[in-house]
Amino acid sequence: MKPRLSADFRFALMVLFGGLAVLAITPFAVYRFASGQLVAGLVDVLIELVIVAIVAYAWRSGNMDRAGLLASLATSAGCVAVGTVGGLAGALWLYPVLVANFLLAGRMTAIAISAGAVLAMVSGDSLGDWPARGSFAASAIVLSVFAWLFSNHSEQQRLHLERLAGRDPLTGALNRRGMDGELQAVIAAAGRDGAPAGLAVLDLDDFKQVNDRHGHEAGDGVLVQFAELVRRATRASDRLYRTGGEEFVLLMPGADAATLARIARGLRRAVRDQVRCGGEPVTVSIGATPVRPDDSVASWYARADRAMYRAKREGRDRAVVDAGVDPAPGGRSRG
Ligand code: GH3
Ligand code: MG
Ligand code: MG
Repeated sequence: MKPRLSADFRFALMVLFGGLAVLAITPFAVYRFASGQLVAGLVDVLIELVIVAIVAYAWRSGNMDRAGLLASLATSAGCVAVGTVGGLAGALWLYPVLVANFLLAGRMTAIAISAGAVLAMVSGDSLGDWPARGSFAASAIVLSVFAWLFSNHSEQQRLHLERLAGRDPLTGALNRRGMDGELQAVIAAAGRDGAPAGLAVLDLDDFKQVNDRHGHEAGDGVLVQFAELVRRATRASDRLYRTGGEEFVLLMPGADAATLARIARGLRRAVRDQVRCGGEPVTVSIGATPVRPDDSVASWYARADRAMYRAKREGRDRAVVDAGVDPAPGGRSRG
């Protein structure tokens, strides 16, 4: 749970929101039962149960879009219900929910749900005369505009930071954009002082089937698991790029041919043993090759790519290492 909370901001938000809602509602539920208001107490408990169920759904499915939408709808409707019965004391609960809507649901959805909730609240007569209703509506709109501005601003900043960092938002792997330059620098070091380096192309096996069998969201989860595993299993100085949907490139400065082969085989095994989708193992085909001093970016990459395709041809779930020596046939090994 803890790694998930730190890695997935929306899930963390959902847990925080659910926890706060339950903490805030429980004293009222206890008070209502203690003072004999059985129905009101049961409504409180029902709202809590719905919130807990939605957080559990978010945890199990990983579908934050749907869980956020459900949470937003359920709590907004709950506030309208409590406000209709309890007047202003109940309606005040809509304020935090109006802010949370922007964090939980998409912006347009949040506007629609919030507008519906405010309209429903002021069209009943639990808030009293029109100045009271008008004040409620106006203050709710001002609050929503601020919440919208803040969510807009933080979304822009998030996108901006991701672009600056050159990272793929799903897996946290680097984008392809900076890759050629870094490969070029490593090749230059190899040509200058013979510094070793390895390059691997990693392509998840039968990923189309993984998506078809378990859904695109589950496929995305596999990509996240995979990238985390590679980062755990490699050095901090190694660079993982996402070059295509389910294709990654790992640049390993300093790794000689033997180290490279060991890493490629270890990664192949670790993916098979540790990455799961719907309880089933996921596998990867890896092509790896050390740098040659006379390599260009294109020749180095092409050699790794060819080795990866050889791994596919030989049955997938394989690491093929091209030793990068001439003549080619003698220097190849497989594992
Ligand atoms: P092979 O073993 O030959 O690599 O088979 P494959 O099915 O992995 O290869 P193919 O290239 O035919 O299909 C890749 C699939 O990866 C197709 C696409 O639906 C899926 N994919 C690409 N990007 C993403 C993504 O970001 N998320 C998810 N869930 N799936 C993706
Ligand atoms: Mg594939
Ligand atoms: Mg592919």
